[in-house]
Amino acid sequence: MHELAVTQGIVEMIVDRVRDRRVLAVNLAIGQISGVAPHAIRFCFDLVAAGTVVEGARLHIDTPIGRARCRSCGLDDLVVEAPIPLCGCGSADLEVTSGDELVVTSVEVAV
Ligand SMILES: [Zn+2]
Repeated sequence: MHELAVTQGIVEMIVDRVRDRRVLAVNLAIGQISGVAPHAIRFCFDLVAAGTVVEGARLHIDTPIGRARCRSCGLDDLVVEAPIPLCGCGSADLEVTSGDELVVTSVEVAV
């Protein structure tokens, strides 16, 4: 399961950064065209966090919409929903500007 590995990577990265401090909340941004399902991450999170300093942390997930710029006609606010997006001009030469990210935006730790 792809999301399990992704969640493990996220939790390991956080554990590594916060050392022994207790994590209260984790904020993620999972772009809508990142190929990762937020509900699956949520499902895996408690499982993976168990027994670590991340256990019991609140998980907040933002899902930024996919956006791209067309290299052919220069349109720069295309909303991307399909896995292989096309510009209105017919071009598939698009540069994704947002929505394909999977990042930990912030982590709240106990002081
Ligand atoms: Zn175009």
